[in-house]
Amino acid sequence: MIDIKYFTFNGFRENTFLLFDKTKECVIIDPGCNDPYEEKQLVDFIEDHDLTPKIILNTHCHIDHVMGNKFIVDRFNIPLLFNKIECPVLNAAVGYADACNIQYTPSPAATDYISEADTIEFGKSKLSIVFVPGHSPGHIAFVCDDQKFVISGDVLFQGSIGRTDLPGGDFAALAESIKTKFFTLSDDFQIYPGHGPSTNIAFEKANNPFLS
Ligand SMILES: [Zn+2]
Repeated sequence: MIDIKYFTFNGFRENTFLLFDKTKECVIIDPGCNDPYEEKQLVDFIEDHDLTPKIILNTHCHIDHVMGNKFIVDRFNIPLLFNKIECPVLNAAVGYADACNIQYTPSPAATDYISEADTIEFGKSKLSIVFVPGHSPGHIAFVCDDQKFVISGDVLFQGSIGRTDLPGGDFAALAESIKTKFFTLSDDFQIYPGHGPSTNIAFEKANNPFLS
């Protein structure tokens, strides 16, 4: 049984997820903590619950999802994994931060790359990976089939979808990703996006105005 804890961090109000099970091993997905207060919130939760971080995962490498990578890697000395196609996106984050005057400590490179064929394991838990490009070219999402949830990044939001006007964005690819990778899941799958509240497949099939 996986517990899901999330924090909303940084100026982009990005959701950072912490998944853990009864073994107390945890994975940190899209660490967006970007100041000492946010870093302390994350570390305090980990310490208060006696958790052992095992892996950092990025759904994609837009700046708001990777702002905390460096801090978490340094603090816990654990591997950082994301899709190889996101490398140029990560490399562009420094220039974006400079142009927008955003405080950003550059993320380390990936320890290893992951894609749809891979499985993430921690404690007694498993997550599968789906490749869902469109918002970003190498975007992946993490699926828990047993508990029917998806940590979905910036693909599908409650009543909305990820923007496709950033470099590498592609609306047709995003719509195809949602239709073939998310809407083929059963209606009761819960979606935990990178911004805003959680939603589920049934609600988005019925109500999402971008996917008619
Ligand atoms: Zn994004």
